[in-house]
Amino acid sequence: SKLINKMSGINQEKIFDTIESYGYDDIILMPGFIDFGVNDVNLKTKLTKNIEINIPIISSPMDTVTETDMAIQMALLGGIGIIHGNNTIETQINMVKQVKRYRNGIIRNPIQFKPEDTIEKAQEIRKKYGYGTFPVTEEGKSGTKWLGIISKVEIDFVEGTNKHNLIKDIMKKDDIYYQYDDIGIDKAYKYIKEKGLNTLPLIDKDKNLVGIIHRKDLLHNIDYPLSSKDKGGHLLVGAAISTGKDSYERVKNLVEAGVDVVVIDSAQGNSTFQINLIKHIKSNYNIDIIAGNVVTLEQATNLINVGADALRVGMGIGSICTTQEVCGVGRGQASAIYHISNKLNIPVIADGGIRGSGTIVKALSLGASSVMCGNLLAGTDEAPGNFFYENGTRLKKYRGMGSLESQKMAMTSKSRYLSSDDAPIVSQGVDGCITAKGKLSTLFNHIVQGIKHGMQDLGKINLFNLHKERVKLELRRAGALYEGGVHSLYNYNKNSY
Ligand code: 5GP
Repeated sequence: SKLINKMSGINQEKIFDTIESYGYDDIILMPGFIDFGVNDVNLKTKLTKNIEINIPIISSPMDTVTETDMAIQMALLGGIGIIHGNNTIETQINMVKQVKRYRNGIIRNPIQFKPEDTIEKAQEIRKKYGYGTFPVTEEGKSGTKWLGIISKVEIDFVEGTNKHNLIKDIMKKDDIYYQYDDIGIDKAYKYIKEKGLNTLPLIDKDKNLVGIIHRKDLLHNIDYPLSSKDKGGHLLVGAAISTGKDSYERVKNLVEAGVDVVVIDSAQGNSTFQINLIKHIKSNYNIDIIAGNVVTLEQATNLINVGADALRVGMGIGSICTTQEVCGVGRGQASAIYHISNKLNIPVIADGGIRGSGTIVKALSLGASSVMCGNLLAGTDEAPGNFFYENGTRLKKYRGMGSLESQKMAMTSKSRYLSSDDAPIVSQGVDGCITAKGKLSTLFNHIVQGIKHGMQDLGKINLFNLHKERVKLELRRAGALYEGGVHSLYNYNKNSY
């Protein structure tokens, strides 16, 4: 079997170490041996050197793809969303904060009461925020002694002068209503379930309140077992910055807002602007950086040398992208992924040109750790923008960040293409439409199952195996490509866009 593995490696080398540039459609993967079920396939991967996610799919930092709703749903499903930066710093950090707050995990500074507060006050707060359970502490603030807990059951139906009764007379204070802070999120969830609690206060060794966990988050855990979470149980989220003027200020704000990873959004990443920015971020903040975009070893090496934690690979191959036509620069995406992920030891994100599970399996087989998608995820309910109709078809806008329309927003988009203010704007992308795709979760789970089938066909049970023993592939001639698609059917419209 050693010989076979070696031959597979040689096979990829033989194809790609030439002067030709290959795209996804030019290659086809050879099947392997199946000795496991499709649901045994594990897609856990490295997003960056330090961050793992369960599903290798990332939503693009584009203003028609990733804002709050998309980022929340992507993280719940096991991938991650990168909030675009074609907006003000304030708008972007608000989106990041909303994602971080969404799945509350451990709430560190919850609303709470003092024992001397009245039931009336509790009713008012309950009405205002809608919450149903509150801890009671000595001074009504975190860090002071935990005394008990009150819930809607005790306060909802209290009327008349009884409203003036004090919280301390109705609170529950048994030992089952708290746990120590070091319990860890998983055990805490188990405890909540076992005891039938709505809220679990966490205390330190001196019995001071340090946070609470909600039952609602436990339910999320069951519905979304693969979700991407930080150590505190909050959803993971990334945000894009450019190499332009406001990026130093932007990154500072994003880190303060709790972003987990920053993406430096540039169509050609090998520049002094990006190198200086990476150095600055690495020496001032403890945050992972996805750098790029790159397609050659030289570009990649420069960014790795200054501390990039992952690379975004792809140039001019996105569905809305005209870089190769406008600038004449770029690389076939299969070649770009192969060269960078085979020769450098860093997580590679295959960015652009993903049309479905088949292209994802190819990208991963060439060595990518994950894929970044714009087109594939645009047009879902969670993508920004409103639906509209054209010729009876329900559509949503999808546009390149280098399109004129997007560059006119002039936040990061313009600097993504290193445009300067006094020159005419040259577009490197187009704006178009995508047919409505419905809920992201339905589409996403379908794609994930497709990837698992592909991995099973290859005989690879996880991405570690896929990367260790490279699969064998062949180049496709025109006839093979034709056969590989749907053909010979009456009036079959192969692809409407
Ligand atoms: P798609 O998934 O639509 O094929 O490609 C999305 C990717 O295309 C993005 O993640 C980004 O790297 C790239 N991209 C987005 N907008 C533009 C653009 O206007 N021009 C170029 N050259 N690339 C773009």
